Amino acid sequence: MKRLICLFLICILLSGCGANTQKTLYHMNTVMHLQLWGKDCETAAARCDVILRDLESLWSVTDANSSLSAINRGQDVKLDGPYQALLNQVEALSQRTGGAFNPKLYALSNAWGFYNEEFRVPTAEEITEALSQEQWDLGAALKGYAGYRLTLELDKLKVDRAMLNLGGNIQTYGEKADGSPWKIGIQNPDGGDYLGIISVTGTMAVVTSGDYQRYFEVDGVRYHHILDPETGFPADSGLRSVTVICDDGLTADAFSTALFVMGLEDGTRFWRASDDFEAVFITNDGKIHATEGVNLSGCDYEVIFR
Ligand code: AMP
Ligand code: MG
Repeated sequence: MKRLICLFLICILLSGCGANTQKTLYHMNTVMHLQLWGKDCETAAARCDVILRDLESLWSVTDANSSLSAINRGQDVKLDGPYQALLNQVEALSQRTGGAFNPKLYALSNAWGFYNEEFRVPTAEEITEALSQEQWDLGAALKGYAGYRLTLELDKLKVDRAMLNLGGNIQTYGEKADGSPWKIGIQNPDGGDYLGIISVTGTMAVVTSGDYQRYFEVDGVRYHHILDPETGFPADSGLRSVTVICDDGLTADAFSTALFVMGLEDGTRFWRASDDFEAVFITNDGKIHATEGVNLSGCDYEVIFR
Protein backbone atom coordinates (compact mmCIF):
# COMPACT_ATOMS: atom_id res chain seq x y z
CA MET A 1 0.00 0.00 0.00
CA LYS A 2 2.83 2.37 0.95
CA ARG A 3 4.50 1.70 -2.41
CA LEU A 4 1.33 2.42 -4.30
CA ILE A 5 0.94 5.78 -2.59
CA CYS A 6 4.56 6.67 -3.45
CA LEU A 7 4.05 5.82 -7.13
CA PHE A 8 0.85 7.85 -7.21
CA LEU A 9 2.63 10.91 -5.81
CA ILE A 10 5.46 10.65 -8.32
CA CYS A 11 2.96 10.46 -11.17
CA ILE A 12 1.29 13.66 -9.97
CA LEU A 13 4.65 15.42 -9.79
CA LEU A 14 5.62 14.29 -13.27
CA SER A 15 2.36 15.35 -14.85
CA GLY A 16 2.59 18.72 -13.11
CA CYS A 17 6.02 19.81 -14.23
CA GLY A 18 7.89 17.04 -16.09
CA ALA A 19 6.92 17.88 -19.65
CA ASN A 20 6.81 21.65 -19.33
CA THR A 21 9.38 23.71 -21.27
CA GLN A 22 9.89 27.45 -21.08
CA LYS A 23 12.12 29.33 -23.47
CA THR A 24 12.93 33.04 -23.75
CA LEU A 25 14.10 34.16 -27.19
CA TYR A 26 14.93 37.40 -28.94
CA HIS A 27 13.58 37.76 -32.47
CA MET A 28 11.98 40.53 -34.53
CA ASN A 29 13.45 43.16 -32.21
CA THR A 30 11.51 41.86 -29.24
CA VAL A 31 11.65 39.41 -26.36
CA MET A 32 9.56 36.30 -26.86
CA HIS A 33 8.56 33.80 -24.23
CA LEU A 34 7.38 30.29 -25.10
CA GLN A 35 5.68 27.90 -22.68
CA LEU A 36 5.03 24.40 -23.95
CA TRP A 37 3.41 21.33 -22.44
CA GLY A 38 3.68 17.83 -23.83
CA LYS A 39 6.13 15.04 -24.45
CA ASP A 40 9.08 16.42 -26.39
CA CYS A 41 8.75 20.12 -25.79
CA GLU A 42 12.49 20.82 -25.85
CA THR A 43 12.63 19.73 -29.49
CA ALA A 44 9.47 21.71 -30.29
CA ALA A 45 10.84 24.86 -28.62
CA ALA A 46 14.09 24.50 -30.59
CA ARG A 47 12.07 24.19 -33.83
CA CYS A 48 10.08 27.32 -32.91
CA ASP A 49 13.39 29.16 -32.44
CA VAL A 50 14.55 28.11 -35.93
CA ILE A 51 11.23 29.04 -37.55
CA LEU A 52 11.23 32.48 -35.92
CA ARG A 53 14.81 33.07 -37.06
CA ASP A 54 13.94 31.98 -40.62
CA LEU A 55 10.86 34.23 -40.74
CA GLU A 56 12.95 37.13 -39.55
CA SER A 57 15.67 36.57 -42.11
CA LEU A 58 13.06 36.47 -44.88
CA TRP A 59 10.85 39.34 -43.81
CA SER A 60 12.93 41.73 -41.71
CA VAL A 61 12.85 45.16 -43.25
CA THR A 62 15.94 46.29 -41.36
CA ASP A 63 18.09 43.39 -42.59
CA ALA A 64 19.54 44.34 -45.98
CA ASN A 65 19.93 40.63 -46.77
CA SER A 66 16.25 39.74 -46.26
CA SER A 67 13.96 38.86 -49.17
CA LEU A 68 11.71 41.78 -48.24
CA SER A 69 14.61 44.24 -48.48
CA ALA A 70 15.45 42.80 -51.90
CA ILE A 71 11.82 43.28 -52.99
CA ASN A 72 11.96 46.86 -51.69
CA ARG A 73 15.10 47.45 -53.79
CA GLY A 74 13.09 46.38 -56.82
CA GLN A 75 14.90 43.06 -57.27
CA ASP A 76 12.99 40.22 -58.89
CA VAL A 77 12.64 37.84 -55.93
CA LYS A 78 11.17 34.39 -56.46
CA LEU A 79 9.24 33.56 -53.29
CA ASP A 80 8.20 30.03 -52.30
CA GLY A 81 4.45 29.40 -52.62
CA PRO A 82 3.57 29.90 -48.92
CA TYR A 83 5.54 33.14 -48.79
CA GLN A 84 3.94 34.60 -51.89
CA ALA A 85 0.63 33.51 -50.35
CA LEU A 86 1.51 35.45 -47.19
CA LEU A 87 2.08 38.67 -49.15
CA ASN A 88 -1.18 38.11 -51.05
CA GLN A 89 -3.02 37.56 -47.78
CA VAL A 90 -1.49 40.71 -46.30
CA GLU A 91 -2.65 42.72 -49.33
CA ALA A 92 -6.15 41.27 -49.04
CA LEU A 93 -6.30 42.21 -45.33
CA SER A 94 -5.13 45.72 -46.19
CA GLN A 95 -7.94 46.03 -48.72
CA ARG A 96 -10.48 44.73 -46.22
CA THR A 97 -9.50 47.51 -43.80
CA GLY A 98 -9.79 50.14 -46.53
CA GLY A 99 -6.05 50.72 -46.26
CA ALA A 100 -6.01 51.55 -42.52
CA PHE A 101 -3.64 48.58 -42.25
CA ASN A 102 -1.09 49.48 -44.91
CA PRO A 103 1.89 47.08 -45.17
CA LYS A 104 3.85 49.47 -47.39
CA LEU A 105 4.74 52.26 -44.99
CA TYR A 106 8.43 51.50 -44.55
CA ALA A 107 9.63 54.83 -45.96
CA LEU A 108 7.14 56.68 -43.75
CA SER A 109 8.23 54.91 -40.53
CA ASN A 110 11.79 55.67 -41.57
CA ALA A 111 11.01 59.36 -42.11
CA TRP A 112 9.82 59.48 -38.47
CA GLY A 113 13.05 57.77 -37.38
CA PHE A 114 11.30 54.71 -35.98
CA TYR A 115 13.84 52.38 -37.55
CA ASN A 116 17.16 54.06 -36.86
CA GLU A 117 15.84 55.69 -33.65
CA GLU A 118 16.83 59.13 -34.91
CA PHE A 119 13.34 60.35 -34.07
CA ARG A 120 12.09 63.50 -35.75
CA VAL A 121 8.90 65.09 -37.08
CA PRO A 122 9.18 65.00 -40.88
CA THR A 123 8.12 67.92 -43.06
CA ALA A 124 4.94 67.79 -45.17
CA GLU A 125 7.10 67.28 -48.29
CA GLU A 126 8.97 64.40 -46.66
CA ILE A 127 5.68 62.75 -45.68
CA THR A 128 4.27 63.06 -49.21
CA GLU A 129 7.49 61.67 -50.65
CA ALA A 130 7.58 58.77 -48.13
CA LEU A 131 3.92 57.85 -48.78
CA SER A 132 4.60 57.71 -52.52
CA GLN A 133 7.34 55.11 -52.09
CA GLU A 134 5.14 52.13 -51.14
CA GLN A 135 7.89 50.01 -49.62
CA TRP A 136 6.91 46.84 -47.78
CA ASP A 137 7.02 46.71 -43.99
CA LEU A 138 5.40 43.73 -42.27
CA GLY A 139 6.01 45.13 -38.77
CA ALA A 140 2.29 45.29 -38.08
CA ALA A 141 1.60 41.69 -39.09
CA LEU A 142 4.68 39.47 -38.88
CA LYS A 143 4.55 38.54 -35.19
CA GLY A 144 0.90 37.58 -35.59
CA TYR A 145 1.73 35.46 -38.62
CA ALA A 146 4.62 33.91 -36.69
CA GLY A 147 2.18 32.85 -33.95
CA TYR A 148 0.00 31.10 -36.52
CA ARG A 149 3.04 29.51 -38.21
CA LEU A 150 4.27 28.14 -34.86
CA THR A 151 0.91 26.53 -34.13
CA LEU A 152 1.29 24.52 -37.37
CA GLU A 153 4.61 23.22 -36.11
CA LEU A 154 3.27 22.43 -32.62
CA ASP A 155 0.49 20.48 -34.31
CA LYS A 156 3.00 18.54 -36.40
CA LEU A 157 5.13 17.75 -33.36
CA LYS A 158 2.07 16.77 -31.32
CA VAL A 159 2.69 19.22 -28.52
CA ASP A 160 -0.24 19.11 -26.05
CA ARG A 161 -0.63 22.84 -25.48
CA ALA A 162 1.32 26.07 -25.48
CA MET A 163 1.20 29.73 -24.57
CA LEU A 164 3.41 31.82 -26.87
CA ASN A 165 4.13 35.43 -26.02
CA LEU A 166 5.71 36.94 -29.12
CA GLY A 167 6.57 40.41 -27.87
CA GLY A 168 3.09 41.00 -26.46
CA ASN A 169 1.34 39.19 -29.32
CA ILE A 170 -0.21 36.22 -27.54
CA GLN A 171 -0.87 32.94 -29.30
CA THR A 172 -2.47 30.12 -27.34
CA TYR A 173 -2.40 26.56 -28.62
CA GLY A 174 -4.62 23.66 -27.52
CA GLU A 175 -6.81 23.21 -24.49
CA LYS A 176 -5.55 23.57 -20.94
CA ALA A 177 -5.30 20.30 -19.01
CA ASP A 178 -8.06 21.21 -16.55
CA GLY A 179 -10.35 22.55 -19.28
CA SER A 180 -10.20 26.10 -17.91
CA PRO A 181 -9.63 29.00 -20.34
CA TRP A 182 -6.30 30.67 -21.03
CA LYS A 183 -6.18 34.02 -19.27
CA ILE A 184 -4.45 37.00 -20.86
CA GLY A 185 -3.98 40.39 -19.18
CA ILE A 186 -4.68 43.62 -21.09
CA GLN A 187 -1.83 46.02 -20.50
CA ASN A 188 -2.58 49.34 -18.88
CA PRO A 189 -1.36 51.94 -21.45
CA ASP A 190 -0.05 54.03 -18.55
CA GLY A 191 2.00 51.13 -17.19
CA GLY A 192 1.58 49.21 -13.97
CA ASP A 193 -0.95 46.47 -13.44
CA TYR A 194 -3.13 44.82 -16.04
CA LEU A 195 -6.46 46.53 -16.68
CA GLY A 196 -8.51 43.40 -17.23
CA ILE A 197 -8.32 39.74 -18.16
CA ILE A 198 -9.36 38.21 -21.48
CA SER A 199 -10.25 34.50 -21.35
CA VAL A 200 -9.99 32.36 -24.46
CA THR A 201 -10.21 28.63 -25.09
CA GLY A 202 -8.23 26.51 -27.50
CA THR A 203 -5.97 27.93 -30.19
CA MET A 204 -6.40 31.69 -30.41
CA ALA A 205 -4.43 34.88 -31.10
CA VAL A 206 -4.77 37.88 -28.77
CA VAL A 207 -2.90 40.84 -30.25
CA THR A 208 -2.62 44.41 -28.98
CA SER A 209 -1.60 47.63 -30.75
CA GLY A 210 -0.97 50.56 -28.45
CA ASP A 211 0.45 54.08 -28.53
CA TYR A 212 2.67 53.23 -25.54
CA GLN A 213 4.60 50.48 -27.31
CA ARG A 214 6.97 52.74 -29.27
CA TYR A 215 7.01 56.52 -29.23
CA PHE A 216 9.07 59.66 -28.76
CA GLU A 217 8.24 63.12 -27.45
CA VAL A 218 9.01 66.57 -28.82
CA ASP A 219 7.88 69.70 -26.98
CA GLY A 220 5.57 67.64 -24.79
CA VAL A 221 3.84 66.00 -27.79
CA ARG A 222 3.92 62.22 -28.03
CA TYR A 223 4.52 60.75 -31.47
CA HIS A 224 3.84 57.01 -31.57
CA HIS A 225 4.60 54.33 -34.14
CA ILE A 226 1.14 53.50 -35.53
CA LEU A 227 0.81 55.76 -38.53
CA ASP A 228 -2.34 56.92 -40.27
CA PRO A 229 -1.77 56.24 -44.00
CA GLU A 230 -4.10 59.14 -44.85
CA THR A 231 -2.21 61.83 -42.94
CA GLY A 232 1.25 60.28 -42.61
CA PHE A 233 1.10 61.23 -38.90
CA PRO A 234 0.71 58.98 -35.87
CA ALA A 235 -2.95 57.90 -35.78
CA ASP A 236 -4.93 60.33 -33.65
CA SER A 237 -8.17 58.39 -33.40
CA GLY A 238 -8.93 58.77 -29.72
CA LEU A 239 -7.54 55.38 -28.71
CA ARG A 240 -4.71 54.24 -26.46
CA SER A 241 -4.87 50.59 -27.48
CA VAL A 242 -6.84 47.96 -29.35
CA THR A 243 -6.71 44.25 -28.64
CA VAL A 244 -8.01 41.83 -31.27
CA ILE A 245 -8.99 38.23 -30.56
CA CYS A 246 -9.10 36.00 -33.60
CA ASP A 247 -8.31 32.40 -34.48
CA ASP A 248 -5.83 33.60 -37.12
CA GLY A 249 -2.75 35.40 -35.80
CA LEU A 250 -2.02 37.33 -39.00
CA THR A 251 -5.56 38.70 -39.15
CA ALA A 252 -5.47 39.59 -35.44
CA ASP A 253 -2.23 41.52 -35.88
CA ALA A 254 -3.28 43.35 -39.06
CA PHE A 255 -6.66 44.26 -37.56
CA SER A 256 -5.29 45.48 -34.22
CA THR A 257 -3.23 48.01 -36.15
CA ALA A 258 -6.11 48.87 -38.49
CA LEU A 259 -8.65 49.35 -35.69
CA PHE A 260 -6.21 51.60 -33.85
CA VAL A 261 -6.06 53.80 -36.96
CA MET A 262 -9.85 53.70 -37.47
CA GLY A 263 -10.82 54.62 -33.89
CA LEU A 264 -13.78 53.39 -31.84
CA GLU A 265 -16.61 54.45 -34.14
CA ASP A 266 -15.22 53.25 -37.47
CA GLY A 267 -13.67 50.24 -35.73
CA THR A 268 -17.09 49.28 -34.35
CA ARG A 269 -18.60 49.62 -37.81
CA PHE A 270 -15.83 47.43 -39.23
CA TRP A 271 -16.44 44.80 -36.51
CA ARG A 272 -20.19 44.80 -37.22
CA ALA A 273 -19.48 44.14 -40.89
CA SER A 274 -17.15 41.23 -39.98
CA ASP A 275 -17.64 37.89 -38.30
CA ASP A 276 -14.13 36.64 -37.69
CA PHE A 277 -12.80 38.62 -34.70
CA GLU A 278 -13.61 40.34 -31.42
CA ALA A 279 -11.97 43.48 -30.05
CA VAL A 280 -11.29 45.51 -26.90
CA PHE A 281 -10.75 49.26 -27.28
CA ILE A 282 -9.20 51.53 -24.64
CA THR A 283 -10.00 55.18 -25.32
CA ASN A 284 -7.93 58.25 -24.45
CA ASP A 285 -10.09 58.84 -21.36
CA GLY A 286 -9.25 55.35 -20.09
CA LYS A 287 -12.66 53.78 -20.84
CA ILE A 288 -12.81 50.18 -22.01
CA HIS A 289 -15.20 49.02 -24.74
CA ALA A 290 -15.43 45.35 -25.72
CA THR A 291 -17.36 43.66 -28.51
CA GLU A 292 -20.01 41.30 -27.23
CA GLY A 293 -18.08 38.10 -27.96
CA VAL A 294 -15.14 38.98 -25.69
CA ASN A 295 -14.88 37.14 -22.38
CA LEU A 296 -13.51 40.01 -20.29
CA SER A 297 -13.24 40.16 -16.49
CA GLY A 298 -11.61 42.20 -13.75
CA CYS A 299 -12.67 45.62 -15.08
CA ASP A 300 -15.69 47.80 -15.85
CA TYR A 301 -16.42 48.12 -19.53
CA GLU A 302 -19.07 48.95 -22.08
CA VAL A 303 -20.29 46.17 -24.33
CA ILE A 304 -20.45 46.85 -28.06
CA PHE A 305 -23.44 44.94 -29.47
CA ARG A 306 -23.94 43.80 -33.05
P1 AMP B 1 1.52 47.03 -34.52
O1 AMP B 1 2.32 47.19 -33.28
O2 AMP B 1 1.18 45.62 -34.87
O3 AMP B 1 0.30 47.89 -34.53
O4 AMP B 1 2.43 47.50 -35.73
C1 AMP B 1 3.04 48.75 -35.77
C2 AMP B 1 4.19 48.70 -36.74
O5 AMP B 1 3.70 48.50 -38.06
C3 AMP B 1 4.96 49.99 -36.79
O6 AMP B 1 6.08 49.94 -35.97
C4 AMP B 1 5.34 50.12 -38.28
O7 AMP B 1 6.47 49.31 -38.55
C5 AMP B 1 4.16 49.50 -38.97
N1 AMP B 1 3.02 50.40 -39.20
C6 AMP B 1 2.77 51.64 -38.69
N2 AMP B 1 1.58 52.10 -39.07
C7 AMP B 1 1.03 51.13 -39.84
C8 AMP B 1 -0.21 51.00 -40.54
N3 AMP B 1 -1.15 51.94 -40.53
N4 AMP B 1 -0.42 49.85 -41.24
C9 AMP B 1 0.51 48.87 -41.27
N5 AMP B 1 1.69 48.94 -40.65
C10 AMP B 1 1.95 50.05 -39.93
MG1 MG C 1 -0.49 44.71 -35.73
